[in-house]
Amino acid sequence: MNTIQHWINGTTVAAGQDSRFADVVNPATGVTSGKVALASADQTREGIRAAAEAFPAWRDTSLTKRTSIMFAFRELLNARKQELAEIITAEHGKVVSDALGEVSRGLEVVELACNMPYLLKGGHTENASTGVDVHSVRQPVGVAAIISPFNFPAMVPLWFFPVAIASGNTVVLKPSEKDPSAANWLAELWKEAGLPDGVFNVVHGDKEAVDTLLTDEQVDSVSFVGSTPIAKYIYETASAHGKRVQALGGAKNHMLVLPDADLDITADSAVNAGYGAAGERCMAISVVVAVESIADELVAKIAERTRGLKVGDGTREPDMGPLITVAHRDKVAGYIDAGVEAGAELVLDGRTTSPDADSDAAFLNPTLFDRVTPDMSIYTDEIFGPVLSVVRVPSYEEGLELINANPYGNGTAIFTNDGGAARKFENEVQVGMIGVNVPIPVPMAYYSFGGWKNSLFGDTHAYGAEGVHFFTRGKVVTKRWLDPSHGGINLGFPTNS
Ligand code: NAD
Repeated sequence: MNTIQHWINGTTVAAGQDSRFADVVNPATGVTSGKVALASADQTREGIRAAAEAFPAWRDTSLTKRTSIMFAFRELLNARKQELAEIITAEHGKVVSDALGEVSRGLEVVELACNMPYLLKGGHTENASTGVDVHSVRQPVGVAAIISPFNFPAMVPLWFFPVAIASGNTVVLKPSEKDPSAANWLAELWKEAGLPDGVFNVVHGDKEAVDTLLTDEQVDSVSFVGSTPIAKYIYETASAHGKRVQALGGAKNHMLVLPDADLDITADSAVNAGYGAAGERCMAISVVVAVESIADELVAKIAERTRGLKVGDGTREPDMGPLITVAHRDKVAGYIDAGVEAGAELVLDGRTTSPDADSDAAFLNPTLFDRVTPDMSIYTDEIFGPVLSVVRVPSYEEGLELINANPYGNGTAIFTNDGGAARKFENEVQVGMIGVNVPIPVPMAYYSFGGWKNSLFGDTHAYGAEGVHFFTRGKVVTKRWLDPSHGGINLGFPTNS
């Protein structure tokens, strides 16, 4: 059986004798494909030490050299992305073409980071005061810990580490223990691209490894993505230990449909964004907010399309793969039970399955509920599965009010042909990422990704200009070249002339 080990200082490091391990299971077949080492605090510290020791030399490596390594990494990743997509599918279960999509979105951030010399350019002011010049620079923060979730084993780490590395930081990545192999594959690719040993390290593990990263004094920043309760814990613990933190949490994304929307395209979008990756996307649409006058027609169109979806092993290119584990499948099925019990109208029941796969254990068919109300657990909780709820509202105002009352604020979308209504929505909605007739509005790499409220703790979003800001800190230099006119004693506060 394959053992997935840590990657520290440019090489695989075997877990200690008394190490703990977790099974890695292919959710489409139910077969255990390997076991992943779960680092102890001591072993996690080995990874941190490697990153800390590599930092001074990497920080001082010229921007030209750092950028040439970024370009080499970009070329390798682009050439071999199919390989990575297949690794993702084997452990996560998502359809291979979808896994390829996640790698492509990650590649965009590598491309952004290839532009680091430009992004790091500071400002310069000549003669700010007589004979005095001022300039600003941004310098790397130090050792960056990145803790990532199971649902995007390549893309989420790629949101952070290209920017961190290109701007001169060194990294310890703690991937999800459910699909850990993508991280080791990326580490080997870095080595091939010429990255010095110790700049990128992978420590596998669970709470013990994470807690060490949050508290060790050699870690300078923490970037986390995962569920809201853990994100809050990460933010509070790492901040209390003096680290710079960005902790992205869970989501409940609403799609508001106004009566003038094109209902066919809207129904396509709801199905794609609701059931893609089996609903295990932080930007998945989980609630369709339909204005009452078009709700019957919209629900019928969504149901018709959903009935045609094929569910199966991701390697066979169905529309939708399995959920991440049997336990998670059962948890999501439990929400369907609860929705029925609470009185929601079950339009399509996903609890009976016959997937195109060798096992049916972790599969759930797409489920559609209508007439969901905000007090039901299928509305209040992040389900993270292929369960789409329709909430009916009398008008735009009640729809907006519902979205703004939700404790999450990751993504949202409005479907309408009315430019004025869309503009009003953009202005009034309390959510970080907004789509206008775009159901999964994941920002391009040169913008920044992040939600509001319980979807992000900290104030800096991922990648783009905010990512560069997170992984660097500013310095401002005020200087003059002395001449005799600068002499003399004056204890007053310096003013400019
Ligand atoms: P999770 O919170 O269970 O795990 C995320 C990471 O935290 C993993 O590396 C895990 O090992 C670690 N972890 C788990 N429990 C911990 C604990 N008690 N103490 C310390 N560390 C712990 O999340 P998940 O199930 O892997 O991923 C799904 C969640 O991630 C969903 O809530 C989803 O919305 C969220 N997510 C959010 C975004 C975003 O951009 N906001 C993106 C992707 C996923």
